[in-house]
Amino acid sequence: MRFPTCHSCGERPAAITLRDLGAEYCAACLERSVLRRARSSVADLLSEGDRVVVALSGGKDSSVALYVLSRMAREGGMDVDLAALTVDEGTPYRRGAIRAASELAAMLGVPHRVVSLKDYHGISIGELEGSLPPGHRRSPCTYCGVLRRQTLNVAAREMGADWLATGHNLDDLVQTYVMNLIRGDVNAMGKLISGVRSPSEALIPRIRPLELVYERETAALSVALGLPAQLGKCPMTRGLRIPVRRALDDVELSNPGFKRSLYEGLTELLRRRRTDILSHIEVRPCEICGEPTTGTVCKACELKGELESILGRRLPRLHSA
Ligand code: SF4
Ligand code: ZN
Repeated sequence: MRFPTCHSCGERPAAITLRDLGAEYCAACLERSVLRRARSSVADLLSEGDRVVVALSGGKDSSVALYVLSRMAREGGMDVDLAALTVDEGTPYRRGAIRAASELAAMLGVPHRVVSLKDYHGISIGELEGSLPPGHRRSPCTYCGVLRRQTLNVAAREMGADWLATGHNLDDLVQTYVMNLIRGDVNAMGKLISGVRSPSEALIPRIRPLELVYERETAALSVALGLPAQLGKCPMTRGLRIPVRRALDDVELSNPGFKRSLYEGLTELLRRRRTDILSHIEVRPCEICGEPTTGTVCKACELKGELESILGRRLPRLHSA
């Protein structure tokens, strides 16, 4: 059997079809293309000496994000101080991912910190899942997402981060845009724009080096480069994301490039309205824990309050105001 030749270099055997371009790429050309897109997403945002903390879950996307940022820092004249941060949510699935994250950080020579949700919030997601009553209105992912986001922000701030880089790829971001649209939450959409500084210094701004890279490209690159990474998804995945992902995948299949156009179109629209959107977002310290929130009590404290009545015990609050 003869493999097709890479459409970019015309020499090496192709490893992946880039459906939106209608082209087959070899691993080396895919890597070059991903690096170029990552650079175009973040290079203008970063200044010399910035400390970039990469949220490294140990999955393929954040592993590729750390890899491309370390390549850009080493070879691309991007003089930034890189570090990696992993949050252990306390699910059995996580153990292999944390091992992979530590291995990758050591391989790339990037300092790596692992913090646990339990240390910051007094409960792991494994324990939480086992405690929720049958038919409870919230899935473990709701708690996990909120508590993990707050932990990442606090731990990155403790590490002196100027930026928090996440491994969100194009597919993740389009799904999140659509989920926020379905909920009518324009403010949440505005927060998705890479490089937007929040009105509060306590919130570390995000950059997303893989925002223009499809999930199947990060998966192919992670395998081609042999990066230590856990493939597959956390088995607890539930909620609106699943049907939204399925619907978007269906449209992409018959209209290659649809997700990229939708992402770029919505991002451009939000960028033009950025000042207006941000003027509606007022950030103040949470009355309970002092962490930044747009309400009076942050979502983490609200959810922990609910959990306390289910668990029948107190959960620690962050005191960082
Ligand atoms: Fe947490 Fe849900 Fe993601 Fe699993 S799928 S890591 S429980 S948010
Ligand atoms: Zn709070």
